[in-house]
Amino acid sequence: MAYGPAPESSAEARDWIKTRSVIPHFIGGKFPAPEGETTEVYNPATDEVLTRVALGTEAEVDAAVKAARAALPKWTALAGHERATYLYALARHVQKRERFLAVLETLDNGKTIRETRDIDIPLVARHFYHHAGWAEMIESDFPGLSPVGVCGQIIPWNFPLLMLAWKVAPALAAGNTVVLKPADLTPLTAMAFAEICVEIGLPAGVVNIVQGDGATGAALAGHSDVNKLAFTGSTDVGRVLRRQLAGSGKRLSLELGGKSPFIVFEDADLDAAVEGVVDAIWFNQGEVCCAGSRILVQEGVAERFFAKLDARLQTLRVGDPLDKTMDMGAVVSRKQLARITALLAQGEAEGATLRRAPVILPETGAFCAPGYFSGTAPAHTVSQTEIFGPVATTLTFRTPDEAVTLANDTRYGLSASVWSENINRAIETAAAVKAGVVWINATNIFDAGAPFGGMRESGFGREGGRLGMLEYLTRPQIARKPRLEPSAPDIAPFTGKADRPAIDITAKLYIGGKQVRADGGQSYTVMGKNGAIGQAAMANRKDIRNAVEAAAKAGGWGGVTAHNRAQVLYFLAENLEQRRAEFVAALTAAGTPKPGDEVEAAIRRAFWAAAQADKFDGSVTATKSRHVTMTVNEPFGVMGIVAPDEAPLLGLLALILPAVAMGNRVVAVASQSHPLVGARLYQVLETSDVPAGVINLVTGERDVLAKTLAEHDEVAALWYCGSASGAAMVETASVGNLKPVWAETGVRDWQTPDPDLLRKATQGKTIWIPYGA
Ligand code: NAD
Repeated sequence: MAYGPAPESSAEARDWIKTRSVIPHFIGGKFPAPEGETTEVYNPATDEVLTRVALGTEAEVDAAVKAARAALPKWTALAGHERATYLYALARHVQKRERFLAVLETLDNGKTIRETRDIDIPLVARHFYHHAGWAEMIESDFPGLSPVGVCGQIIPWNFPLLMLAWKVAPALAAGNTVVLKPADLTPLTAMAFAEICVEIGLPAGVVNIVQGDGATGAALAGHSDVNKLAFTGSTDVGRVLRRQLAGSGKRLSLELGGKSPFIVFEDADLDAAVEGVVDAIWFNQGEVCCAGSRILVQEGVAERFFAKLDARLQTLRVGDPLDKTMDMGAVVSRKQLARITALLAQGEAEGATLRRAPVILPETGAFCAPGYFSGTAPAHTVSQTEIFGPVATTLTFRTPDEAVTLANDTRYGLSASVWSENINRAIETAAAVKAGVVWINATNIFDAGAPFGGMRESGFGREGGRLGMLEYLTRPQIARKPRLEPSAPDIAPFTGKADRPAIDITAKLYIGGKQVRADGGQSYTVMGKNGAIGQAAMANRKDIRNAVEAAAKAGGWGGVTAHNRAQVLYFLAENLEQRRAEFVAALTAAGTPKPGDEVEAAIRRAFWAAAQADKFDGSVTATKSRHVTMTVNEPFGVMGIVAPDEAPLLGLLALILPAVAMGNRVVAVASQSHPLVGARLYQVLETSDVPAGVINLVTGERDVLAKTLAEHDEVAALWYCGSASGAAMVETASVGNLKPVWAETGVRDWQTPDPDLLRKATQGKTIWIPYGA
């Protein structure tokens, strides 16, 4: 059966565009004439020029940040309920204009009206409603937290208004003000949103929009009065921003690219899985960061599955995105089309076979026939690089273990889709894949209440739900003394025994459950309040690599029950208690204030971490009907920890214990100035049933060791207590695998447990499980 054309009218949206010959900025509640250059805005489905858009200058970015700063005090001071009323109004006004906004988005982006009308815009409204709720509950549900301040937000072109909603709604609900930069290819719906802000009477300056390209984005990221930057876009630009913000103290969240596995087991409902592929890689022309772009099929069903997929490919319709019967519209630009085409040619050149839908593409516009590669190998460029177009790669696997290995054979970790009628297998696979979002027997479902975001090089931070709100809230801190650079260590050749008068201790390193000598054989003199009190091993890069390797091998720790981890930590607490006098003496010799109090707090912290091990829970969220959507707190894996000089025992344990309680393995650098206190923990660890490799302790030059940890790809997260310049250094060095870095540059009071550390020691994984026939 052939479909006749069923075009949606674009008259209203076109009339709106006609009266806007240039899309301006929205600053302080006004639409000032652009100062800088403008560029054309195209309809990628027809190549027609729709209008022009301003390219924001530094001065315009500055004006927008000033407007956001000026609006902040009053907006923050509003009661949650009052902010909620604005968010409800935004939701309602978006809903009233759903059809108009859907058409405008389709004209600007090339995506089908079916998707903008049924998915994008309803989700935008849902996002504002959901966050109106969080605003309402802010005082009761987030006690003691306050807004971060002025938030810079940069979004891509693939879901223009939806990405705006994901950024603006939580920021406003939490009491922040924003400066948002849309993608220059798709500025129209952001402009329409600005007009809705005026219409509902949102106070001027709470939302500011600066149009522009990468240069405008860079100016926003670099502005000294922005407190947080939230970015969605490519991993390459994510890296640029990580470097640019290093040492600035600004909060950063990154939602980046993906190369997500779509795993079909032999017991899957194959027809449902084939429909899943349609939604995974041909949805939104494949321009989806969480697209299921690597299809992995179990060998026994591969032939049947691909026969069904080929049959489905025959029926796909590609063409005028305003036609309600189309499955796919145009990609966003001719430039993007050229990029996709070049990658497809490369795939073929490397030996893969490209199968495509037999569609006749329109003569004008940036259209791309959907399809998939067969015969791809994991090392092929197209298996590793995000195509960001409607073409998947395919591979077969024999066993569930092989499926997981292939699924994780990527630098990304945004999402995964698992198809199996066996719930045990599906959940086991969901637990094993490295991805922030996993859909079981489904794909590409989103909801404002379900946290979304990546692991590994797909970025860090979550959008949606409670975790998303926490990205825009902070715990107010009292002013702190900055941490200083430690003085250069006095290196003496290591002789294996104390070799100076008054020195009675020579400490080694603790790696893989054993005390080992430093690789370079060097040690340094440790000063106490009355002169030299001992020597500590001087670890080098090789020692850090050995420690990371030992930690990597101890992966079983993340899999033992939380109860088991608690038992080990209780035992550690008891052993600390037994050595109380010894630690008090060590701290006294080191010359730290109130040694008795510090040891007492350290013992209590161990009990606290043990107690938390089985209580810091994830959540189950009400999202769509007939779905269980759960977010579990997963450990990162291997974490690097660089302990503070103040409170050399308590500071070290305050960091190690929550990380380990949550299932991480750690490589910790003890205080450079007081390493002997940390080294006394070796015996405690040896007698506490802590499995080898779970806690590794090294001593030496803080920033040399911190840099090696920051650069190491196996280290998945880093906590650094050190100087401001050290923070800049580790943040810059972390760009390799884009690990999240928490840098604490102010001297801190470690006496009270910090529950935020439990969250910082985990990453949310959202698992969607549909039920019913
Ligand atoms: P992009 O990274 O080139 O651009 C994204 C945004 O960043 C745009 O607004 C752009 O103007 C701006 N930008 C570019 N260079 C900049 C710089 N140096 N400093 C500051 N801002 C800069 O990405 P794109 O091509 O627009 O979008 C596609 C990419 O986005 C894909 O890789 C996709 O996977 C990713 N994406 C990720 C998610 C997610 O949630 N993880 C969502 C959508 C898209």
